[in-house]
Amino acid sequence: MESSFKSLNMDGHFDFKDIHHAASDFGNRYHFLPVAILYPKTVSDISSTIKHVFNKGSTLDLTIAARGHGHSLQGQAQAHQGIVISMESLRGTKMHVHTGELPYVDVSGGELWINILHETLKHGYAPKSWTDYLHLTVGGTLSNAGISGQAFRHGPQINNVYELEVVTGKGDVVICSEKQNADLFYGVLGGLGQFGIITRAKISVEPAPKKVKWIRVLYSDFHSFTKDQEHLIALEDTFDYIEGFVIINRTGLVNNWRSSFNPKDPLQASLFNSDGRTLYCLEMAKYFNPEETDDVNQKMDNLLSKLYYVQHTLFLSEVSYVDFLDRVHLSEIKLREKGLWDVPHPWLNLLVPRSTIYDFSEEVFGRILTDNSNGPILIYPVNQSRWNAKTSVITPSEDVFYLVAFLSSASPSSTGSDGLEHLLSQNKRILDFCGRAHLGVKQYLPHYGTQEEWQAHFGSKWDVFARRKLTYDPSAILAPGQRIFQKAN
Ligand code: FAD
Repeated sequence: MESSFKSLNMDGHFDFKDIHHAASDFGNRYHFLPVAILYPKTVSDISSTIKHVFNKGSTLDLTIAARGHGHSLQGQAQAHQGIVISMESLRGTKMHVHTGELPYVDVSGGELWINILHETLKHGYAPKSWTDYLHLTVGGTLSNAGISGQAFRHGPQINNVYELEVVTGKGDVVICSEKQNADLFYGVLGGLGQFGIITRAKISVEPAPKKVKWIRVLYSDFHSFTKDQEHLIALEDTFDYIEGFVIINRTGLVNNWRSSFNPKDPLQASLFNSDGRTLYCLEMAKYFNPEETDDVNQKMDNLLSKLYYVQHTLFLSEVSYVDFLDRVHLSEIKLREKGLWDVPHPWLNLLVPRSTIYDFSEEVFGRILTDNSNGPILIYPVNQSRWNAKTSVITPSEDVFYLVAFLSSASPSSTGSDGLEHLLSQNKRILDFCGRAHLGVKQYLPHYGTQEEWQAHFGSKWDVFARRKLTYDPSAILAPGQRIFQKAN
């Protein structure tokens, strides 16, 4: 095996020994050992490797997985007895910010979003659409969608890309965009790594603000909470970021927030008791520059005056734009210190249509998750009109749908309610209910065991997805960890 790759003329190198870290990911539940890791220095390293595997066919019988930052949940970036390509080693390629009528940044597919933020800010720009956590790679999030509180306005990250450079499953290097090789372009966006490896991307940017007003308000009634969220995302002149989360039976909630948020009405807020209750927190942010403070305050007061949150539960914070976008990293540092970052993460991410979100909440928050949660539960709506239907990502087919993310951490040795088995069975109960009640729910960051389930996930888009696989990766070499297609010999 090793000798077979010796003939290749590479700028980077293969490692056949130190390979164990490529058999792990953030989910920490699936561990498939590859035979080698490729550390590419150039696109041609990736292209030659894939061509070699493609041309040798059954003589080599290998699969290839691009690994971004390895923050998948169920082994999606792993390749059992195959080759893992460490995309971050390609990121040394310089980023270029292009200003002008349609400003963009040109980056490597292995670049981390946090680095893109810092680089673009040097030029006064930043990407428009984000994920909540920025220590993920461009190729990793564009293979899914990339969703955060800006998606209601700008769409997911896959809607904010002008051009891609892709190495297909045959080893061809292809430039693609809306106008050029559009079939591959839309296939790769949200395509779960099935059609090619993203080696470069041109990402749309906008002038960056300096500061952010960050606001949280609480609801005890799910109806008012979602009505207000939907009201805000329908407005033209609204907040720049709109999310929300569910709080189940949290003791001392207001006190916990005190280090980062100030209650608008401290005395009344201190009397607020969250114990034993299920609450819904609407989280909003408004971007601004210091000279616009008065204007932005007025706009915010106006927007907030139309909301129906529980009186006196308005909490405010003012932070820099970078601190706001990189907020989850602070939690990462704290969790790492306590040894709680590298635990199993049985996450479940769902896209729920607006028409069924109430039924969903009644069962899930009213009956399944009543005592506590083992991690944040995000819930926020987005406008489907901002999602390009030509991409590979699958969403419910309604104008508005919700992302509901159960971001659980399991206690490794526990057999109780914070143990992995319990959390997995809770996820199963949620999924079973969604299926039984025909809620029209789709998984985000999907994970299935059989091709029938994948077909059901893609629905009417399955034929196009399968046809693209045959066209761009006919031997099913790429991204085996998604378990959609079996490698053909
Ligand atoms: P990896 O896990 O390395 O790879 C993911 C998949 O993409 C694999 O199949 C891999 O083979 C493929 N792939 C990787 N690089 C490339 C490439 N260059 N070309 C083609 N295919 C490639 N998602 C959101 O949308 N919004 C969020 O707010 C959000 N927050 C998160 C917070 C945390 C703490 C974590 C762990 C994940 C979060 N995610 C979020 C999910 C995240 O976007 C996905 O798990 C993403 O795939 C991780 O990126 P990565 O670089 O680690 O990819």
